[in-house]
Amino acid sequence: MLCPNCSWGNLRKIGRNIYYCKNCFHEVEKKSNIIILFELDGDGTRKKVFTVNIETESEEAI
Ligand SMILES: [Zn+2]
Repeated sequence: MLCPNCSWGNLRKIGRNIYYCKNCFHEVEKKSNIIILFELDGDGTRKKVFTVNIETESEEAI
């Protein structure tokens, strides 16, 4: 699976359907038909950046 933000291919699995990109420091959550990209704040809070619909591959800003 590629990072939807930077296309880096070596995401580390950190939870059920959750991956971490060491390259751009984002978390990626995969659901049945969407991928959600989260930005991590300094205090560890996750903030949604955008979602990608896997079927249409269209990006939606949040
Ligand atoms: Zn990345």
